[in-house]
Amino acid sequence: MPELSQPYRILVACFCQESNRLNPRSADEELFVVERGRDILRSPTGVLKGLAEALVNAGVTIEPVFSASGGAGGLVDHDFYLRMREQLLDAVRRTKPDAIGLSLHGAMGTTQTPDAEGDLLQALRRLVGPTVPIGVGLDLHGHITPRMLDNSDICIACKENPHSDFVECGQKVAELLIEQLEGRLKPVTVSARVPMILPGAGETGSGPLAEIHAKAREYAALHPSIEDISIYNVFRFTDDYEIGQVVTVLSNGPSADAPSIAVDLATRFWVERERFKDDLLTVEEAFERVQSSPDERPFAIGDMGDRVAAGAPGDSTILLSAALDRYPGLCGAVPITDPAAAASAIEAGVGATVTFAVGAGYTPGFTPRLITGIIEHVSDGSFTAKGPVGGGARWAMGPTAVIRVDDRIQVLLTTKPGETLDPAAFTSQAVVIEDLDFVVVKSGFHFVSNFAGVATPVLVNTPGVGYYKKHQFEFRKAHFWPEHDIASPEITARQHSADVSINS
Ligand SMILES: [Zn+2]
Repeated sequence: MPELSQPYRILVACFCQESNRLNPRSADEELFVVERGRDILRSPTGVLKGLAEALVNAGVTIEPVFSASGGAGGLVDHDFYLRMREQLLDAVRRTKPDAIGLSLHGAMGTTQTPDAEGDLLQALRRLVGPTVPIGVGLDLHGHITPRMLDNSDICIACKENPHSDFVECGQKVAELLIEQLEGRLKPVTVSARVPMILPGAGETGSGPLAEIHAKAREYAALHPSIEDISIYNVFRFTDDYEIGQVVTVLSNGPSADAPSIAVDLATRFWVERERFKDDLLTVEEAFERVQSSPDERPFAIGDMGDRVAAGAPGDSTILLSAALDRYPGLCGAVPITDPAAAASAIEAGVGATVTFAVGAGYTPGFTPRLITGIIEHVSDGSFTAKGPVGGGARWAMGPTAVIRVDDRIQVLLTTKPGETLDPAAFTSQAVVIEDLDFVVVKSGFHFVSNFAGVATPVLVNTPGVGYYKKHQFEFRKAHFWPEHDIASPEITARQHSADVSINS
């Protein structure tokens, strides 16, 4: 990157959570990991890492405000959201930055609004006016609204699911912000939306999504004025009017081709919609496979319905009960969110034998499971993820106890919904994965790369609020295929821009 023409100060912050409105446990500060000031630069991960490091390397002075990461969970407590928003606005008032760079998820909703990022960006835009660039790096599972795009200059997503390119996304935001400050970039974003969700097959490495991403790369290579094409897998657990698959094309100045490119890519989703299917096993099929395939053990069984990675509470007992009642020959580990049981177990201490009902504290329709077992490990539940998804990040399950039941099933009782998509969630609790036949993970896709070489992945069709099933959940605002019959949607392009940045 060329020398900067003048010294710049850019404010950076991270406020990320993926909000599943069907999870009744709202997320307040306790369910976030919050760091403030320069602490956020000690070991940043993801978009924040790429953003902050690229800015510093380019000679920019950065003003770090906070990093608040809530993983996935229920809707964010609105008061907590407002406090964080105010801290961010305050920091902008105090430091008067030349630009703002943010790491946001894109599908954060609060107990009062389904479009928290839109609200946040609008508040920032109103404060700084149209001339201070605002750049955002998002998760591709964002619920992208016109309000977000209208109130930012650069709003782009990572390109891979499972997500292994968050850092690159942050670096790109940094580069584009600098280009804009230097006057070499006049960002214009065009979006196209198609009212559908992906019922399954959300991975970008294979299938129809891989083809659409390949086409996007082809378009970008052919059109030098196009700086970014972002393709969003809509987040399925938001109920908002503008729900749908979104494609955004960011160009340097208005591009005559961007609208047709956005519409073409969005249309491909519609044309290919029947191909977006998951290949899920039933609970019985999954355990039968574990039982009949000793050479492939251990297995990592993705509990799709109770995916903490999609904002579910992680309190399902369905796979635990199946393993205990119907597969007496199998050894495994099953995480369950249950703060009260975890506290009782920790109080009883390692070596104690306890009997209590666990799980089902949050998800409607789940049943607690009575277990008797020996407590073999207790901890604060923190660990550092090692796999490609989230590697290096410090994740917190809250106070956690491991109870051995029937001398073969280890139940990890966690206080917070456990991010178990990484083997370190288990190994940090002294669970020896290679000695087991299976571990249950509360993830659908991301665990596959993190468990590569450790366990054979299988995805299981289980009940819960972490997996979309047609007509299972009520949508009051959202209108989309396949939930609703839509004959042939009109797919059009819409331009978003801060007028001043195009016209000046
Ligand atoms: Zn995501």
